[in-house]
Amino acid sequence: MRRRLVAGNWKMHKTPSEALVWFQALLEKLPPTGAEPALLVPFTHLPYAAQTLKQRVAYGAQDVSAHTEGAYTGEVSARMLADLGCRYTIVGHSERRSYHGETDALVAEKAQRLLEVGIVPILCVGEPLAVRQVGGHLEYTLGQLERSLAGVSLPSPAHLVVAYEPVWAIGTGQTATPEDAEAMHRAIRGWLGERYGEAFAEEVRILYGGSIKPENAGALFRAPNVDGGLVGGASLMLEDYLRLLSALE
Ligand code: PEP
Repeated sequence: MRRRLVAGNWKMHKTPSEALVWFQALLEKLPPTGAEPALLVPFTHLPYAAQTLKQRVAYGAQDVSAHTEGAYTGEVSARMLADLGCRYTIVGHSERRSYHGETDALVAEKAQRLLEVGIVPILCVGEPLAVRQVGGHLEYTLGQLERSLAGVSLPSPAHLVVAYEPVWAIGTGQTATPEDAEAMHRAIRGWLGERYGEAFAEEVRILYGGSIKPENAGALFRAPNVDGGLVGGASLMLEDYLRLLSALE
């Protein structure tokens, strides 16, 4: 059984003090749930996440350096994140791929750095609109996945979360239909099965991301290969985040 996951991607929102208040409110309102709540927050918020969320809510960063240590001004290493108790960290988000020119090879290096310290990468893949319009989305996304995992050694299926995030759906209010999401997730699981074996693939969690809201989450989360969501905008509002968690039940 794959434990379902709602991972909030806060991007560059809220100050650390605002985050602290939000974390405390979340803990007060968090219902007992079989699903796993997680928050991917700016680096500056992580010490507060470590102090407050502890064992009840997983947390992590939105990026990591491909280097282990050294003269890399502005970078944050995987070991630093592990020291703060991060369970997950995003790699390959489309905003980093497009605004910072991150290649699949760089994404693979970052994933490997995380795995070396026991942090689970949430590896983002997904096609832009022009590719979807000409029907090349499966080939594009699976190619991205293959290259982003090249040379990455995964100790177990629990050490990988894949997030399918069609670029045209991120922050646009346009969502993939549950049928389209399911078709892609099935293809991703099929590819993982060919690469790592079927039993392994069955245990890897595959999240959908792209304009998930409490109103559309139920239908998306009912798709058999959708194991939860990577959620941007709707994860910033406590009530919405809690509704998303209950949509996974
Ligand atoms: C994201 O940032 O990964 C994302 C899916 O954003 P949104 O939910 O706002 O589309």
